[in-house]
Amino acid sequence: MKNRRRFLVTVSLLIACSILAVQPLATIAAGFETFELPIAEFEPGMPSLYLRGPVEPAKNVILLISDGTGINHRTLVRIASGGANSKLPSERLFEVGLANTHSLDSLVTDSAASATQIATGNWVPNRTISVNADGEPLQTILELAKTLGKSTGIITTDRVTGATPAGFAGHVPDRDMKNEIAQIILENDSVDVLIGGGKKNFQSPVAGKKGDRTDGRDLLEEAAERGVTICNSIYELRADDSPRTWALLSSGSMTAAVKRNYTLGDLTSEALRRLSQNPEGFFLMVEGDQIDGGGHDNDIWRMALELLDFETAVEVATEFAENRDDTLVIVVSDHETGGLAITNGQAQSTEVEYGWIHGGHTGTPVAIYSSGPNSFLLGGHIYLADISKIIAFGWDIYDFGPDRAVEGPGAKWLLSKQNQQ
Ligand SMILES: [Zn+2]
Repeated sequence: MKNRRRFLVTVSLLIACSILAVQPLATIAAGFETFELPIAEFEPGMPSLYLRGPVEPAKNVILLISDGTGINHRTLVRIASGGANSKLPSERLFEVGLANTHSLDSLVTDSAASATQIATGNWVPNRTISVNADGEPLQTILELAKTLGKSTGIITTDRVTGATPAGFAGHVPDRDMKNEIAQIILENDSVDVLIGGGKKNFQSPVAGKKGDRTDGRDLLEEAAERGVTICNSIYELRADDSPRTWALLSSGSMTAAVKRNYTLGDLTSEALRRLSQNPEGFFLMVEGDQIDGGGHDNDIWRMALELLDFETAVEVATEFAENRDDTLVIVVSDHETGGLAITNGQAQSTEVEYGWIHGGHTGTPVAIYSSGPNSFLLGGHIYLADISKIIAFGWDIYDFGPDRAVEGPGAKWLLSKQNQQ
């Protein structure tokens, strides 16, 4: 990476300012205070969905999630890698929107609740993976794709049982139930191409294998019996051609981007090569997970290198989708992590001064970049929960997710479609 430059480390002005204004409430993190307008009018209930126009058919969907990536993360990495006038692959997509990220119980979501929101259209409490308050499964957009005869894929740099991928293929009341999530992925049979870490959640520590399972089962052997090809390395994955392939490439999380000899973009190519064989189309979710870890550790290098790795996947997705009119590409984050801010720097330089506000998530909205059919519907200020609704509309499915009032020029069109079914 020849464009790499030194990042200038500074003490955050934001942290300095907030320390001066300590609130005496026990529930508030040190250095922060609460705020409520005396004229506040609380709007309860689920927000309406705004449709800017009639929905178009969108056969294939590639949904790329950069975990814990705010607008400032992308801006800093863009400047540090190419200068203020450069563009990252995601920033080249035509349509740009913003999404609010709060969960059912918190202004600051975790990755489980936001994955559930993106995958099912439902608001749930933090830590929840695609179940309702009674613990019953909420159908995910990936599962809907499968019922429509489409092929499905999940790629992550986390364990495949991590919160974000689990939101699309698992159903458990708590994100830490990783062995149960692995079992659901096997038994629901909803994922054709599964690439990431987390092998230990599929295996028991028997016959020399490493594993976290205590039931003696080897879910990868069981998957093979169901006709899934199991690949144990990037080389096996590249040599294999079968449409149903699982490649669990690490016991826990995937190796850091800089220590791998392949990119998230390479893995995305491997998935698209298989999924695009299906004439009915496909749904693929790609997650760059460790950007979030960099944010939690306030580790600018880790954040930046993982985001650049994620952007290789955006590039591959965009290349696949251009020159065809049937593929919706969506790039979104599940939340911001760290409260990153750019505090100073020369415009004609790749050196950036920055600061973090803390080591957790924040409640700031995230950017949505998209291209292809229906991307214009993602170009407003929306909610993460709107995304899967709009994907389902593009597949001619009008009752996916929770009931929501619909407004805007597309509402009439939707009503006529719903009446036809
Ligand atoms: Zn996080």
